Amino acid sequence: MKREQSPFCIAGEEIPPGHRRTVNIAAAKMYNRNELYMDVHVIHGRIQGPTVFLSGAVHGDEINGVEIIRRLLKMKLLNSLRGTLIAVPVVNTFGFVNRTRYLPDRRDLNRFFPGSPKGSLTGQLAAIFMEEVVDRSTHGIDFHTGANFRYNLPQIRAVISDPVIKDMAMAFGTPVVLDAELRDGSLRKAAYEKNIPLILFEGGQSMQFDPIPIRVGTRGVVSVLRQLGMLPKAKQKNKCTQPILARNSTWARASASGIFLPHVQLGEIVTKKQILGLVTDPLGESEHKITSPSSGVIIGKLQSPLVHKGDAVCHVAGISDMDIAETAIDSFQSEFEFESKMQQYEEGYL
Ligand SMILES: [Zn+2]
Repeated sequence: MKREQSPFCIAGEEIPPGHRRTVNIAAAKMYNRNELYMDVHVIHGRIQGPTVFLSGAVHGDEINGVEIIRRLLKMKLLNSLRGTLIAVPVVNTFGFVNRTRYLPDRRDLNRFFPGSPKGSLTGQLAAIFMEEVVDRSTHGIDFHTGANFRYNLPQIRAVISDPVIKDMAMAFGTPVVLDAELRDGSLRKAAYEKNIPLILFEGGQSMQFDPIPIRVGTRGVVSVLRQLGMLPKAKQKNKCTQPILARNSTWARASASGIFLPHVQLGEIVTKKQILGLVTDPLGESEHKITSPSSGVIIGKLQSPLVHKGDAVCHVAGISDMDIAETAIDSFQSEFEFESKMQQYEEGYL
C-alpha cells in the first residue's frame, strides 16, 4: 500500500510531500557577528520511504563528493523518488572556503562526532549536523577522498557484519568494499551508535574533481537508492561486477627518507613482499625497497615523490581470493577506460 508522506520538518521549515527545497542551517556564529550557514537540499517524495542523507566535504578540501551530489541533484530520475533525500554537499563550509581539511579551531570534524552544543566550534557543528540531518534520517552515505597527496581507488568503507550496511555497500558498485573499523569521533561511528546504517565512499584525491571517482560515486548513489526501494529498479542490469570484499588493509610505509619511485599502479593486485617501489635520493646513491605487507589490491597511493621514512605510500587491502579480485579489477578498469574514452567525445560534464 503506497502511503502519502507527512510534511518533512527540518531547521524549523516544513516541506510538503512532492516538493524540494534548499534550507540554510546556521552552522556557527563567527567573530565578525555573522552566522555561517550550511546549505541542505531536501527532496521530499510524495510516497513514504526511507530518508537518506548524503554528506560531502566533512573534510573541507575533499571535494569529489560535492560534485557527485551536484550531479545527482540534476537528475530527472529523482522526480520519482519515494521517501526523502537530504543532500548536504558541503558540511564543513569553513574548510571548503579555506581549502583545508580542518575548521578554524584546527580540529578535524570527523574526529568530533557526535559533538556537543556546549563544545568547541567543531563540536557544535558536529552536534548541529547530528540533530538536523542524521537524526532525521534512516540511512546515510558520506563522501571522502584521499588526504595529503594520496589518491584512493573508488571504494566503500563499511561495517560488513551489519546486514543492512553490507547490502548498501555491495549495491554501490565500487571495485572494492573495505570492512573498515569504526574510528572514534567519526560520523560513521556516531551514526552506527544511533543504529543508522551509513556507508563511506572514498575516491580520488583532495582539491580535485577526479572524473572516474565522480562517475562511480554518482552511479553508486543511484544504485543504493534503487536497492532501498526509493527509485524504480534499473531496466538493464548494471554490468558492474561484484565488488571485492576486503576484511583488512595495511599501509606500506617508506623504508627511508628520500624520493619515492612507485612500481605499482592503483588497482594493481600484489603479492606479499612484492616490491611496491623504491626510495632513492637526489643523487641516486641510495636505493631502499618498499615491499608489500600482504597480498591484496592497491587501494590508495601517494602521489608526491617526496617522503620521510615512515610515510604511508601504498594502501593494500588484504584479499584472499586473487582470481576473483583480478576479475573484479579488470572489469572495473575496462568499463571505466572505455567510458573515459567516450567522454572525450562528449561535451563537458554529464
Ligand atoms: Zn576525509
